[in-house]
Amino acid sequence: MELRNYMEDLVLEKLDDVMAQYPYCCTCDLCKRDIATLALNHLKPRYISSHKGDVYTRLDEMSVQYEVEVIQAIAQAIEIVHKNPRHAEEE
Ligand SMILES: [Zn+2]
Repeated sequence: MELRNYMEDLVLEKLDDVMAQYPYCCTCDLCKRDIATLALNHLKPRYISSHKGDVYTRLDEMSVQYEVEVIQAIAQAIEIVHKNPRHAEEE
């Protein structure tokens, strides 16, 4: 049995798009990972079983349904990481 958190796919898919709208936002790997992690922690996980067949139909429906939520969560995460970037501490 294989389960996956669909929100993870969606956050990663939208991450670059949303970050592109915040040019001040650092795009180093560490910040990107922090933004993705923070966004996912704010989103309720939605698990799907990755059976072949109808998975892609369901993904499309879910994508439309959760897109706004995901974009908002990423935007919030960008603000948090921007105010408190961890890359600065490690330099
Ligand atoms: Zn950074």
